[in-house]
Amino acid sequence: MKKLEVKKHLNNLIYNWFDDEKKDYSSLYNIDYPNEIKTEKLKNHNYKDLRVLIDFLNTPRKRGIKNHSKGAHIKNSSGFGSKLYKTKKLLNIDNNAKTIKGQKYKYMTAILYLAPARTSGYNVCALASAGCMASCLNTAGRGQMGSVQLGRINKTKWYFLERESFLNQLRIEIKRHVLRCKKKGFKPAIRLNGTSDIDWNIHGLYNEFPKVKFYDYTKIYKRALKFVRGEYPKNYYLTYSLNEDNKVQALDILKRGGNISVVFRSKKLPKKYSLKICNQDNWCHFSKSYKVFNGDKSDLRFNDPKNVIVGLYAKGRALKDNTGFVQDV
Ligand code: SF4
Repeated sequence: MKKLEVKKHLNNLIYNWFDDEKKDYSSLYNIDYPNEIKTEKLKNHNYKDLRVLIDFLNTPRKRGIKNHSKGAHIKNSSGFGSKLYKTKKLLNIDNNAKTIKGQKYKYMTAILYLAPARTSGYNVCALASAGCMASCLNTAGRGQMGSVQLGRINKTKWYFLERESFLNQLRIEIKRHVLRCKKKGFKPAIRLNGTSDIDWNIHGLYNEFPKVKFYDYTKIYKRALKFVRGEYPKNYYLTYSLNEDNKVQALDILKRGGNISVVFRSKKLPKKYSLKICNQDNWCHFSKSYKVFNGDKSDLRFNDPKNVIVGLYAKGRALKDNTGFVQDV
């Protein structure tokens, strides 16, 4: 296995959609390539299987990877021959600049960050577009750090490989969050799709914790439709996200009284915005204008006014987007 090949696979694994940038992310993992590629085990792996590569990344001491997120090392029963690390903590509590703003409104927010799209080898964003993947919040703030990325990969693997123990741990942490909020005089809010797009309602969590406000953004039109039709529990709130290829669906959600989120390149948000919709023959028209609400004032989407465009400033990689995901005004 040549050094360059290993690097290429590492890049593919973590940022498989950024290949065209020709950027080398392998340094994030502090891997000593020359020594590592000499080891027998490494030579014997089939690097076409990304899961095997994940195992390689997740075995810190033997293979010289530092800054690995801490967790118990257990044998995995999935049959992939991979190993699973259970991170000590699934939820992050008010640890980003945006969610902490919610404390002004007496909410304390816990977020679950998984490894978005297919970065863990498992897809957690069924309808992610090229633009949203390239601009994903996964790369904003602390998310850029290698240890953070590995922690997210471990959580995602845990969810897919040992669903029951993952959900048990999640329930324990939700209960803890509720108690913590009570003690500190806050109301509990939880966003389970910090960097994923999973329908957590299938696990019954919203009904189990009726006092918690759960909220999300989604790229999945069917879920947004279900939400505007009132088919989710009352303590759940969902905002449909605009990307470069779902304007017709986004307009439909607005017409039905729902909200959509739109990422703008400029920090100066427009007061109103209309969607430019083009057909296959490139015949375009503009929709009715909808009021733009500044979604960066807090992350508490369930407090937003009804039937608005939730405007968000571009962050991280989104600042350089040229797919049409980020809107210019
Ligand atoms: S759907 Fe959301 S979490 Fe998934 S890649 Fe796109 S922006 Fe990131």
